Amino acid sequence: MIYADNAATTKMSEAAIRTMVSLINDTYGNPSSLYTFGQQAKEVLEKAREDVASVIGASAKEITFTSGGSEADNQAIRSVAELGRKKGKKHIISSAFEHHAVLHTLQKLEKEGYEVTLLDVHENGIIRPEEVEAAIRDDTCLVTIMYANNEIGTIQPIREIGAICRKKGVIFHTDAVQVVGHLPIDVDADNIDLLSASGHKFHGPKGVGFLYTRKGIRLTNLIEGGAQEKGKRAGTENVPGIAAMAVALKEAEATMEKVSARVQEKRDRLIKGLREIPHSALNGDEVCRLPGNVNFCFEGIEGESLLLLLDDKGIAASSGSACTSGSLDPSHVLLAIGRVHDVAHGSLRLTINEDTTDEDVDYIIESVKEVVEYLRGFSPIWRDLQAGKKEFIL
Ligand SMILES: *Cc1c(COP(=O)(O)O)cnc(C)c1O
Repeated sequence: MIYADNAATTKMSEAAIRTMVSLINDTYGNPSSLYTFGQQAKEVLEKAREDVASVIGASAKEITFTSGGSEADNQAIRSVAELGRKKGKKHIISSAFEHHAVLHTLQKLEKEGYEVTLLDVHENGIIRPEEVEAAIRDDTCLVTIMYANNEIGTIQPIREIGAICRKKGVIFHTDAVQVVGHLPIDVDADNIDLLSASGHKFHGPKGVGFLYTRKGIRLTNLIEGGAQEKGKRAGTENVPGIAAMAVALKEAEATMEKVSARVQEKRDRLIKGLREIPHSALNGDEVCRLPGNVNFCFEGIEGESLLLLLDDKGIAASSGSACTSGSLDPSHVLLAIGRVHDVAHGSLRLTINEDTTDEDVDYIIESVKEVVEYLRGFSPIWRDLQAGKKEFIL
């Protein structure tokens, strides 16, 4: 099988697996216990906190471990919303193409009396900092903009957006789940106040992530109970998972430069190959995009059928978020960058990584060409397009 869905999840690294197994076997004490066996687990936990912090230029005290990216997003947004409420500031700025962990939290807050401005994403999938600035009001408490989009891979001008927020005295959160472990991040240089990350997107385990919170910003609990994580996230810590995540992140940091250059080269070859398919288009900016992300629309076909036929050929890919939710709506991300419904339905996301070989890239190109042609062969939309009853958009 060729695994080309690394934006959905990644394979755990050998070192992360070894770390996890060894801790499960040998260091299973509760880090809150006072005897030595518990304190050994506590040491592992705090070492992981330091390691994770060091990779993003933070200090260990600013890291809260969570169950993943979704929880970190929820906690970040809810916490700042609460701080805002206390000051009578109930306006939040975000974008139309955020992850649902952000969008659905914001929808809930709207029901609780907050006002949310979702910024437009332009055709290239990049938010303009000046539009963030223009949207900021006296009662704005939070700007939350993702570092890079999980579907189309576009990287946002986070440093500029952060600088604007700092200037205006507004707290800035970024969902950096697709970027941590893939590209260098420095929370100080990037002017970030809160940042969400998830272990399983960088070869760590699933169900574990972290939230960076700049010193001085008070978190609100989502989970009440014990005093773990300085009382901000109750529940016995997932020490094996957390330590394995930290190992995976340190590994990713050490190889980042080389890996991203290599992956980017393969990505560009994949893009070049798929562009040869008539009436196709790359989604999102070609340059400001994650090293491993390729996202295309092919006119006249259904992304889901494409996906299933590629699966038959041994390729694991994604067609956007629609099929997972079982809804007929096309991806909100593709709609946000201005793709019309028909075109957005025919989308394909391939997210490759360092394990993807040149032969894999060739095979993917060949297979997608074959399957798109096959599907167009009996697509009523394609027939109408060919007959001139419908206008080509791409
Ligand atoms: C995967 C992902 C999440 C959710 O992370 P989980 O750890 O799966 O909860 C949030 N945001 C983005 C951008 C993601 O890609």
